[in-house]
Amino acid sequence: MEHLKLSPIIAEEQIKKRIKEIAKDITKSSSGKTLVAVGVLKGSFLFYADLIREIGLDMICDFCGASSYGDDSKSSGEVHLTLDLQTSITGKDVLLIEDIVDTGLTMNFLKKHLATKNPASVTTASFLFKPSALKEECSIDHVGFEIENDFVVGYGLDYQGHFRQLPYVARVENMN
Ligand code: 5GP
Repeated sequence: MEHLKLSPIIAEEQIKKRIKEIAKDITKSSSGKTLVAVGVLKGSFLFYADLIREIGLDMICDFCGASSYGDDSKSSGEVHLTLDLQTSITGKDVLLIEDIVDTGLTMNFLKKHLATKNPASVTTASFLFKPSALKEECSIDHVGFEIENDFVVGYGLDYQGHFRQLPYVARVENMN
């Protein structure tokens, strides 16, 4: 991976500050019921871990998995569930936590999937959002940062499994 040129676009301190703001909003708008925080693996794992620790609510943690990218950097356009929840969310408030909304297909697929389980509500949070890459309308309740339509890595996001551990977000300059 040494051949890839990474340009940092979001610093660790900016991420920390923004997460505190989002967590405050989520905490404020709570119905008072227990929240089921659903992280979408693998990309959201750092955002998820940092966000839930700033939310001051009773919470159950669970995860799901969806895949549309494979090992490539282009979406296949088809979304598959690779891991389902282990907790019942019927009648519960759910917070769906994603790494990035690009085409919007994964977020919409997961919202529909969660809706089949009859939760009381589903609120969505995405660490990153690429508005110009959207292929279908997709509403997100809490967005960390809007970014350009570039391929990014770090803070959970990978390129072929690499770079997830970076504490900042970087644009990959020489993808092809
Ligand atoms: P969608 O196109 O369905 O909105 O995005 C689905 C998934 O594609 C995201 O959850 C993420 O795993 C991956 N993805 C989209 N854009 C990027 C990007 O710029 N970098 C990386 N590493 N993954 C991305």
